Amino acid sequence: MPRKIALVGIGKIARDSHVPALQASPDWDLVATVSRSGKVEGVEAHDDFDAFLAARPDIGAISLCLPPQPRFDYAQKALSAGRHVMLEKPPGQTLAEVHALAALAATRGVTLYASWHSRMAAGVAAAKAWLAGRAVRGGRIIWKEDVRKWHPGQDWVFEPGGMGVMDPGINALSILTEILPEPVHLTAATLEFPENRHTPIAATLDFTGNLRAEFDWRQEGPQRWDIEIDTPQARIALRDGGARLEIDGAAQALDEGPGEYPALYARMADLVARGDSEVDLAPMVHVADAMTLGRRIAVAPFAF
Ligand code: NAP
Repeated sequence: MPRKIALVGIGKIARDSHVPALQASPDWDLVATVSRSGKVEGVEAHDDFDAFLAARPDIGAISLCLPPQPRFDYAQKALSAGRHVMLEKPPGQTLAEVHALAALAATRGVTLYASWHSRMAAGVAAAKAWLAGRAVRGGRIIWKEDVRKWHPGQDWVFEPGGMGVMDPGINALSILTEILPEPVHLTAATLEFPENRHTPIAATLDFTGNLRAEFDWRQEGPQRWDIEIDTPQARIALRDGGARLEIDGAAQALDEGPGEYPALYARMADLVARGDSEVDLAPMVHVADAMTLGRRIAVAPFAF
């Protein structure tokens, strides 16, 4: 029997990815939404989260795809009400928020899943398997996209807690922290803040192990989501956000799998069935470190 789930924050990613994944899922039955104005056709819609929690105690799982700023309050209420919770990336505005949620989930005996959709991209598991046990000599991440195309009008990304270009960049870091055989840590960063905004529009992050990440939200023309890792044997590259894998430039055949969001919901179902939680904060540690250690540069004002 599929389990009942409610989706909270019906916006871009809910419509693009969560709703189709849930509607095709053998594990979940999307029975309600909670959003101040967003709705999903044919699904019971609520606009007040407290009233929803009181009205539908039979819905045992809640998936939060709100922006990070309001997410903690919703997650805390859901966990306190004994519901299993799945979090969109990044799992919160701060590390401490997410630690608090993990502790609350453990106390209440419910599942908390801090999801990282890019880790489910088709090439990631194969890249991890190939790199296992190998030496890493260095590498580079190029994550350059047009914020106007991918986040049209979403001012929350430039508000405190919105992370700016780290919002897509953390997807690259979620892959990096998954595939590297040994952990690395940040040693320096440069953050470019539009002079009228609170979060960076571009960043360069340097890590131990001769690894560098370049994030830029001002990219016009071809969009780039590439990770290249050098080893003594070969250079391995994940392209298109992890969808394609190359070894020394040769495309590798991949098991395409179910897709990123169907895989996330299958994982959530598995965690709930086993009574486990999964909260890996490694990608967010690098973002927090970059914000702590980064050299700030003021750049031209930004408007959508
Ligand atoms: P979004 O469309 O701007 O926001 C989602 C919905 O959340 C909004 O439509 C809004 O619905 C609700 N919301 C916004 N601010 C709120 C607030 N202060 N309090 C309560 N509800 C609020 O954002 P999104 O692009 O879907 O991104 C949401 C999350 O998904 C982010 O963490 C992002 O990193 C992640 N994500 C996004 C993408 C993407 O391509 N956009 C891809 C992967 C992951 P109502 O007005 O109806 O309440």
